Amino acid sequence: MKDNHIFSLLEEEKYRQKSGLELIASENFVSKQVLKAMGSVATNKYAEGLPGKRYYGGCEIIDQIEDSARDRLKTLFNAEWCNVQPHSGAQANAAVMLACLNAGDSILGFDLSHGGHLTHGSTVNFSGKLYNPHFYGVEKETGIVDMDKVASKAKEVKPKMIIAGASAYSRDWDFKRFREIADSVGAILLADISHPAGLIAKGLLNDPIQHCHVVTSTTHKTLRGPRGGVIMMGKDFENPFGIKTMKGNLRSFSSLLDSGVFPGTQGGPLEHVIAAKAVAFGEALTDDFLQYTIQVTKNANAMANEFVKRDYNLISGGTSNHCMLIDLRNKDITGKEAENALVKGDITVNKNMVPFDTQSPFVTSGIRVGTPAITTRGLVESDMIKVVDYIDQIIKNPSDESIHKEVKNEINNWMKAYSLYPKVSYPKSELV
Ligand SMILES: *Cc1c(COP(=O)(O)O)cnc(C)c1O
Repeated sequence: MKDNHIFSLLEEEKYRQKSGLELIASENFVSKQVLKAMGSVATNKYAEGLPGKRYYGGCEIIDQIEDSARDRLKTLFNAEWCNVQPHSGAQANAAVMLACLNAGDSILGFDLSHGGHLTHGSTVNFSGKLYNPHFYGVEKETGIVDMDKVASKAKEVKPKMIIAGASAYSRDWDFKRFREIADSVGAILLADISHPAGLIAKGLLNDPIQHCHVVTSTTHKTLRGPRGGVIMMGKDFENPFGIKTMKGNLRSFSSLLDSGVFPGTQGGPLEHVIAAKAVAFGEALTDDFLQYTIQVTKNANAMANEFVKRDYNLISGGTSNHCMLIDLRNKDITGKEAENALVKGDITVNKNMVPFDTQSPFVTSGIRVGTPAITTRGLVESDMIKVVDYIDQIIKNPSDESIHKEVKNEINNWMKAYSLYPKVSYPKSELV
């Protein structure tokens, strides 16, 4: 190692990750074998195209790696078709929209300020600039999406695509009802399961594959793989949807999506990341991973209960998944102030808009908290009371440096006993 500057910074980052409490709902810690695959020679290879149909020579081995990633992902989600090349969740959504929509088409997504994602039609994102975005949101009283209101909004704006999914929503999605609504207005239904993908894969939440035309996801959140994206389809994969090629031929939906990725929005795939995706999908197929996802939801529940006990205002009153959104307005602190104070105690969360927020996106009235990362470290329900107590101490004393320091020392000592790497069982031998 000659690059002392970068490698010593990487050591510092590893220490930061190991010594603190990681509560960012979209983060996780990958296994050593996922890291190893990511840092492999597969990064050296150009492989534009798909396995068996590449634009470069020498792809025989890379093809086997990508085929394994695809096979394992299909098994994991009961999908009929998938593409594992998107560089990220945003790239997966860009590829799907490019393939399915024309500039100016209407789309209907979950409101960013209620917990949606930028790529679902935000005006600062390609999806809001290229297409005509409309939004549904949660009810003020319940913090939950009212499906009748989604139906009437769809009737009103006649979108070409409806997007179900969010970055900060703690309840499950009624994909069946979404499909009925999509069918009633002739819209394509996209489920973006970036956040809860790991829980969905193990059957803990509603299954989108059997109801939605297309499903996109990241691979690095609850799925605990390398940073990346995927696209999947269930029974509709051969449906031509009336979309024709330039020569006037009908094309299957899945081949359109493939070309939405390459050449539509990407060049060469990141085959080192695809190798790491294959490893992570193999891990996710095991019973160990099922136990992990069950523990993620148990921890989230225990944490939510403890917050509620201490008079924290959770949007929708609790959680059915891995995350919760907390409105801090009754605690007299903004999301930004809370995030900054907590980080001094080595607790990492992110500030987040809450529905009907009165603050700007740079300040916000809330924080989003999730359990995927601390569950990977090995924390269980009884630890959640301690975690909430530390958060509460800091939020009650946002400018008391001595309390921040005390919390930080206690957390650093506590975390010494926990490995950064998940214990994983290897993929079953019959897995390709
Ligand atoms: C995280 C997320 C994405 C984007 O993923 P990136 O890999 O950061 O591009 C897209 N959609 C949703 C719902 C997400 O939560």
